[in-house]
Amino acid sequence: MTAHAQQAAKPEDTEVWQPVPKTVAGKLQATPPPKGAIVLFSGQDLREWVSAADRTQPARWQVADGLLTVDKTVGNIETRRTFTNYRLHLEWRVPAGITGKAQARGNSGVFLASLGPGDVGYELQVLDSYQNPTYVNGMAGSIYKQLIPRANPARKPGEWQSYDVQWTAPTFKPDGALQTPARVTVKFNGVVVQNNVALAGPTLYIGQPHYQAHGPSPIKLQAHGDPSEPISFRNIWVQEQ
Ligand code: MG
Repeated sequence: MTAHAQQAAKPEDTEVWQPVPKTVAGKLQATPPPKGAIVLFSGQDLREWVSAADRTQPARWQVADGLLTVDKTVGNIETRRTFTNYRLHLEWRVPAGITGKAQARGNSGVFLASLGPGDVGYELQVLDSYQNPTYVNGMAGSIYKQLIPRANPARKPGEWQSYDVQWTAPTFKPDGALQTPARVTVKFNGVVVQNNVALAGPTLYIGQPHYQAHGPSPIKLQAHGDPSEPISFRNIWVQEQ
């Protein structure tokens, strides 16, 4: 890419608006942690989490009434432990009466491998996608700016929703070149919206993704900077594979 083209790259360049995934019925999967799973959040505390900006600091999002709620003033949080290949379950809820539209409406995200502070890593988008049009590679169930969900099973604000993720980390050759890409399967409210698809690299807001070698990584939750009311999480667990 020439210096001129690089300078001209804009966020809009990597937005995809068609085809719009079909709206389908989804059903919350409130799956309890299986035997051997690592419970990341059970409603009690954030002992399995740290600040993504400074991993020596605790995660300071709000825990109340068994729920974990994003604190946008605090920034992203990520797991204390690191993972390679795993199965992940989590439940999330956009608050009833949420305001805002498109990307500024219940935006959060799950970085399936966090590659540093900020929004760095492979993002499974979290967003209110119930009658909330936006670019389709940025709706709930998308791998942000890369992979459009196969359907839209989003439930209404105020209702709990579930993600069940199978993550296969990328592998790299000794010289750092890509050996095998990351792959992901995502069930959103029980509906397969990503089916063992390969990622082109970590998420980028601007420009085309590309891989850089990395090892086991934390799982990160996004405190997105939009002004809409914060979303909540519950029942988060991971099973290493
Ligand atoms: Mg997001």
